[in-house]
Amino acid sequence: VLGFSQLLMAEDLPPEIQADIQRIHSGARRATKIVQGLLSLATKHEYRLQYLDVTQVLERALEIKSYDLNTNNIRLTTELSPDLPRTRLDEHQLIQVVVNLLTNAEQAIRASDREGQLLVRAASSETKIKISICDNRPGILPEHIDRIFEPFFTTKEVGEGTGLGLSICYGIIRQHDGDLWAESVPGEGATFHIELPIVSPEGGGDLEPP
Ligand code: ADP
Repeated sequence: VLGFSQLLMAEDLPPEIQADIQRIHSGARRATKIVQGLLSLATKHEYRLQYLDVTQVLERALEIKSYDLNTNNIRLTTELSPDLPRTRLDEHQLIQVVVNLLTNAEQAIRASDREGQLLVRAASSETKIKISICDNRPGILPEHIDRIFEPFFTTKEVGEGTGLGLSICYGIIRQHDGDLWAESVPGEGATFHIELPIVSPEGGGDLEPP
């Protein structure tokens, strides 16, 4: 459907037909996003656990998003503790979580009219590494905050959000025996916290699939 609608969009057709084809194309793209999200929830991932430096993984995720943040005029500040201990994690899954949280913050900021600011912080205690992603706009309503991790919960326009992002992120972090939660002062901004246990290279077997 995507391919053929794209071919038709390149044809010289009357505007009302073009508009219909555009609708079919956007509908098919939305369906793609939902199916990808569902597959990612339902599929048993092979978690590839490595003993890694969380700061380096965060820097990779930030690099992926840096162009989008720059073009949307969002100022990014990082406070990454240089001596974070290593821990066992799946690099691609953690990058997916961080990119998803940054994308949500970017979309939230873009929907408001204030200058965007994002702060990414990472620090550790004796047993845990905590990563926090904090934006300055517009925050999450108290009646929504308990529901945002539910599959299909979205406050975005039809076509913009599928409501699957945070539930996938939550699943990934729980698989690392970690935790993911949000705090928000409505109107001021939202902060998402990821907490990962510090596991030694020998510690623990492979993570069980969900
Ligand atoms: P989607 O982005 O497709 O809506 P998510 O599961 O990623 O799905 O997010 C669910 C909802 O959580 C969003 O629709 C939005 O209401 C809220 N949300 C997530 N991140 C933020 C944020 N940084 N600021 C405000 N609201 C947020």
